Amino acid sequence: MPSPYDFHIHTHYLKCANETMQVKDVVRRCESLGLEAIAITDHLNAPQFLPQHALIKRDLSEIDTPMRVYFGVEVNVLDKTGRVSIDEEQLAEGGFEVVIGGPHTSYFKEPDKEGIIDLQHQLMLQVLAHPLVDVLVHPWWFSASEFRPGGPMEWLTDMTQIPDWHTRELAETALKYGKAIEANYSAFYTEKQYGEAFRETYTHYLAEIARRGVKLSIATDSHDINRLDGIHKMMEILESVGITREQLWTPEMKAA
Ligand SMILES: [Zn+2]
Ligand SMILES: [Zn+2]
Repeated sequence: MPSPYDFHIHTHYLKCANETMQVKDVVRRCESLGLEAIAITDHLNAPQFLPQHALIKRDLSEIDTPMRVYFGVEVNVLDKTGRVSIDEEQLAEGGFEVVIGGPHTSYFKEPDKEGIIDLQHQLMLQVLAHPLVDVLVHPWWFSASEFRPGGPMEWLTDMTQIPDWHTRELAETALKYGKAIEANYSAFYTEKQYGEAFRETYTHYLAEIARRGVKLSIATDSHDINRLDGIHKMMEILESVGITREQLWTPEMKAA
């Protein structure tokens, strides 16, 4: 079955995505993919970027579409204390309907596997507990540069490196706070730092989270217009481990 949703999409305004990611073109492509609901979620790593988000909001207000289009934002974990890059005032100023977020670095220089797993796990639990964040994005994603030989993440060749009790605790925490965990297509299924062994075990990791009752937020995390097409591949991957549409998150399920 094709995916009905894509809840993590970037635009050209924040310069992380390329020029093909014009808001109108993104909406039209998602329509042609048959999606029912999407979220535009560009980066807000610091409050000075709020004016760019206002441009996205303006563009969205000028587009007529039968899809439900949420105006969202992706926030970052700022440091090892777990602080995130949005507060209540910025949420209100931006007018964001959906907030997705998570760590984007290991915070380590050396491959200290135990230290990295412990810190990353703690940061993800804090994101799930954060009152402003709705979805934990791409758990266990790290940039390609962190996988360099001798780099902090060289040991992360597959998800058996992560103890099962961490996954259990992550799922329990998501359930406790009514949060979703993301199934991110671009981060894991297209980037070269993740090989076949990793991908296979990662798909089972997502299945385990869903089996524990956590809703998955399905997403492409597109930075290029052609990447949006990957949303149906993500759904196929989820279906290959028995995950159904009923196990997907939508913003209507947001914790009150
Ligand atoms: Zn991200
Ligand atoms: Zn993103």
